[in-house]
Amino acid sequence: MSSGKINVTADNIFPIIKKFLYSDHEIFLRELVSNAVDASQKLKTLSRIGESKAELGDLTIKVDLDKKKKTITISDRGVGMTTDEINKYINELAFSGAEEFVKKYEDKTDGAAIIGHFGLGFYSSFMVAGKVEIFSLSHVDGSKAAYWSCDGTPEFTLEETDKKKERGTDIVLHINDDGEEFLEESRLRELLTKYCKFLPIPIQFGEKEITESTGEGDDKKETKKKVPNIINTTDPAWTKAPADLSDEDYREFYKQMYPMTFEEPLFHIHLNVDFPFDLNGILFFPRIKPNMDLQRNKIQLYQNQVFVTDNLEGIVPDFLTLLHGVIDSKDIPLNVSRSYLQADGAVKKISGHITKKVADKLSSLFKKDREDFQNKWNDIKMIIEYGMLSDDKFFEKARSFALYQNVENSYYTFEEYLEKIKPSQTDKDGNLVILYAADKKAQHSFVKKAQNKNYDVLVLEGPLVSHLMQRLEGGDDNVRFARVDSEAIDKLIPKDEEQVSLLSDEQKEKLKPIIEENVEKSSYTVMLEPLDSAESPFTITVPEFMRRMKEMSATGGGMMGMGSMPDMYNLVVNTNHPLISRILDESDAAKQKALINEAKNLAMLAQNLLHGEDLTNFVEAQFAHLSN
Ligand code: ADP
Ligand code: MG
Repeated sequence: MSSGKINVTADNIFPIIKKFLYSDHEIFLRELVSNAVDASQKLKTLSRIGESKAELGDLTIKVDLDKKKKTITISDRGVGMTTDEINKYINELAFSGAEEFVKKYEDKTDGAAIIGHFGLGFYSSFMVAGKVEIFSLSHVDGSKAAYWSCDGTPEFTLEETDKKKERGTDIVLHINDDGEEFLEESRLRELLTKYCKFLPIPIQFGEKEITESTGEGDDKKETKKKVPNIINTTDPAWTKAPADLSDEDYREFYKQMYPMTFEEPLFHIHLNVDFPFDLNGILFFPRIKPNMDLQRNKIQLYQNQVFVTDNLEGIVPDFLTLLHGVIDSKDIPLNVSRSYLQADGAVKKISGHITKKVADKLSSLFKKDREDFQNKWNDIKMIIEYGMLSDDKFFEKARSFALYQNVENSYYTFEEYLEKIKPSQTDKDGNLVILYAADKKAQHSFVKKAQNKNYDVLVLEGPLVSHLMQRLEGGDDNVRFARVDSEAIDKLIPKDEEQVSLLSDEQKEKLKPIIEENVEKSSYTVMLEPLDSAESPFTITVPEFMRRMKEMSATGGGMMGMGSMPDMYNLVVNTNHPLISRILDESDAAKQKALINEAKNLAMLAQNLLHGEDLTNFVEAQFAHLSN
């Protein structure tokens, strides 16, 4: 028997392990199971290249819980270790990075997750165990089994033993008070599912009962049988070649990842790169419904099939975190802090690559089957628009497949749309004016007026459109967006032809105060315009600039503080309409007031602005009219 002091310059690594890893105790299980997987993979490799004569047999890794003894045991049938190897790999090597670790992270709380990066994986077991034992038998013929134990102080015991008969390693954790929760079977199962679901070697946790039926008809017998409960899929879809997978396989995989989700994804993107970095994965485009809980199904990040995190903030661009699926890269450092991950060069390259892949896939889907793409557009546009706003490269690529839908439900790319409206919607200065409605029902009367002029109207809705319009206008000096109700129809797209005014300047001067007296000054600006006599006498418009700034400020960006400003409207009075002359000529002040009021109420109705008491009074007055 030998005993000694674990080779570490800093006096005691254990308090540091415990302190820093406090919030993330559960990763001990991932560390130990992935060590067992590594040991099994190593043996497979050695056997394949003829360097091990060991019979591989069943390599299933077992996780056992003994509640009474308060132990968790992880057993593998991998390469195993001799006493010399334990000395080298556990006592010395495992701490090779410890000194550096201690120096660098002693006073930083976020040093927490750095453990794995410095090869302290095995020692994370001391977060939950007061004592850890290793029983190991090397695969090399004639080896003697080794026993190691340590109780969380730098002192350890290392000796040969005859207690271990089978090749491989058992790690026995004597769980202490800090790790009590892990003695619950359900908790342990939850963790195994979280971290080990897709590990490449079968992992068994206890047994499960299955029902087996034998025989036919009357002879049919059902017997219950206990079988090993394997918790993982060793060859998940993303490790296979896309050519070997059917659509059904992808759907199955999606269900496997998100068993609680019934909705099927719209399509997938299979990432498969080995140069200049290693990257595999499958991303799914979910159907995004308004008000749905966006963050429920997250992309999971794996390193060599070991779960790392499902918080990809800062690792992939924000807009892609709305996708579902998995990313696996051997180049991603396992178990390091978030800030470290975000700054990692490989991670940055991967992020750029994924963005490009997603854009390419969308572009090819669009080219391959435009109709199908159009049908899916409303479910995916939020992610794409978000991407266009946050990533310039994506914006450029998306120009070829981002769609704009008009009120008649036709879809156009931006370029196509500009071509379409050029003949009718070029203003007198040569600018193209794109008309849009944010809500085609609410703005129906305005849409109809625009259509009567042979203008086309897009439907642009959602929190991102004001930002998107701003971005599109910025990219093209000759393009401007205007909401259908932002000006009187004749002014929306200013053309050369001037309307002759039927009212003289004198009459106008007389008219203006009469109307202003009857409308709320704080909300309405009265504007007299000589419009087509067929146009409404009163129209309420919402100035484009103010409204858009308000919207942008409400969703981040634009002018700060604008969001809380009151709504301002223009009351456009069509001085060429016969009603206006009537109002002007009316000598009875009460009748004049009533006319203005009623016309204004009708204009408010067309803008969905008449509510509450005003609406009630208006409706009652109309009924009274009818009965007279
Ligand atoms: P890392 O896995 O990053 O090398 P660990 O602290 O997790 O760091 O493990 C240290 C070393 O101990 C491993 O590299 C390996 O050589 C050895 N080891 C740990 N667990 C096992 C095991 N179950 N079977 C064989 N060797 C193991
Ligand atoms: Mg390890």
